[in-house]
Amino acid sequence: MKLGLLGWPLSHSKSPLIHNLALTMANMEGSYDLVPIDSQESGKLAAEIQKIRSGEIAGFNVTIPYKEEVLRYMDRLSPAAKLIGAINTIHRRDGLVIGDNTDAPGFVCDLKNQGLDLTQKPGEAIVFGAGGSARAILYSLLSYGWQIHLLVRNVEKSREMVNDIKGKGLTGGIKIRSVSDLRSTLKHTQIDLVVNTTPLGMFPNVGASPWAMEVGIPETTFVYDLIYNPVKTQLLLQADQAGAKNANGQGMLIEQALLSFEIWTGIKTDRDQFMKHFLQMDQNLNQMEKK
Ligand code: NAP
Repeated sequence: MKLGLLGWPLSHSKSPLIHNLALTMANMEGSYDLVPIDSQESGKLAAEIQKIRSGEIAGFNVTIPYKEEVLRYMDRLSPAAKLIGAINTIHRRDGLVIGDNTDAPGFVCDLKNQGLDLTQKPGEAIVFGAGGSARAILYSLLSYGWQIHLLVRNVEKSREMVNDIKGKGLTGGIKIRSVSDLRSTLKHTQIDLVVNTTPLGMFPNVGASPWAMEVGIPETTFVYDLIYNPVKTQLLLQADQAGAKNANGQGMLIEQALLSFEIWTGIKTDRDQFMKHFLQMDQNLNQMEKK
């Protein structure tokens, strides 16, 4: 079974490690390969997706910056992909190319693993960033009735995406503000969850954070950073300092990947077994990189 990841840049992706391990655990022959597509390579994205249509490739994941661009090449969208307006998983069924999105259930599932069940009691959240992954996070939170303060660097640019997702009839509420309004946002509300969907703090810019250094993080807030490299981003260090519970995005990465794998193969991977092997392999790779 041939699988792969479409995006740019891809050199630090952990997806091949995850999917090749899932293939091995399922006793399946196959490989998961990186397919980097530079924005200058016109036509390559469409040509790669054509390989799904012809059956040459069984499935693709899609990452930055193509999650929205691939929408136009799909014959059909899953309900989640349609509502979110972004795709991270492509497969073929009955000769049709289908776009799906496992980022949203991956996020909900990992937060539950971390002790925060979004589905139980709606609260208030600050979400930083309004790009491709923010759509999946907003969809998840709004679906379960959460109130969201979306903090962005360009309010006007983000308004269209917010209006689009607001029009989907989800139950929660969303207010869009500038990142400079962080302090005033905290003044009037008790924030239960903070989610970073921007690349601020991602390797190699590890000193950056979406949360202004001079503003304290409330101790009772759960802080979730979609970034997983480094393991402790600047934002998570700020959360530690405030005594606030926090987690990086590695759990979401694994949950969304195993859900994609299930779409392609029909096989549900044993999560505990998977984590045991994955953590060992990841540790070995990190040690090799340090040498
Ligand atoms: P994206 O579509 O490029 O969106 C990034 C967002 O961050 C945009 O809204 C952008 O603002 C904002 N932003 C970028 N630089 C900023 C800065 N200096 N200050 C303030 N805002 C800034 O990227 P994405 O696909 O959403 O991915 C974002 C991050 O999430 C990446 O680090 C990615 O690796 C991670 N991610 C993790 C998982 C996981 O499973 N853990 C899944 C998906 C993504 P503008 O709109 O103004 O440009």
